[in-house]
Amino acid sequence: MALTNSQVSKLQRKLDQQYELLLEEVRDALEKSENQQYVELIDRAPADSGDQATGDALADLNLAIIDRHVGEIRDIEATKGRIEDGGYGTCCDCAGEIDYERLLAYPTAKRCFTCQRQHEKTYAHEGNPTL
Ligand SMILES: [Zn+2]
Repeated sequence: MALTNSQVSKLQRKLDQQYELLLEEVRDALEKSENQQYVELIDRAPADSGDQATGDALADLNLAIIDRHVGEIRDIEATKGRIEDGGYGTCCDCAGEIDYERLLAYPTAKRCFTCQRQHEKTYAHEGNPTL
């Protein structure tokens, strides 16, 4: 079952909400840090552009305090791109359809449940040896 238009717009709204929330948190973190000058990057961010400029610009700052957020922001921007390209909801490994239920829980999911499990199994042991 491919996603219906109303399912896609529901997921899109979820993504937008997450996106706003993340930007809000990044903004907070920047304001409380020595990096207030970067807050304008967020204020300048067009609310509904679908381009990846904000995530990339924030990633370029390379600030540890917003690292995790930046990863999620770029994920969401990439997901919005997939929605526009019509590739959203398709597993990047097996090209099968990702369950709507799964997308509701993880709107940025790139893999179906089976492939995600496989992926985690494959990479779980490589991890990060410096930790
Ligand atoms: Zn798959």
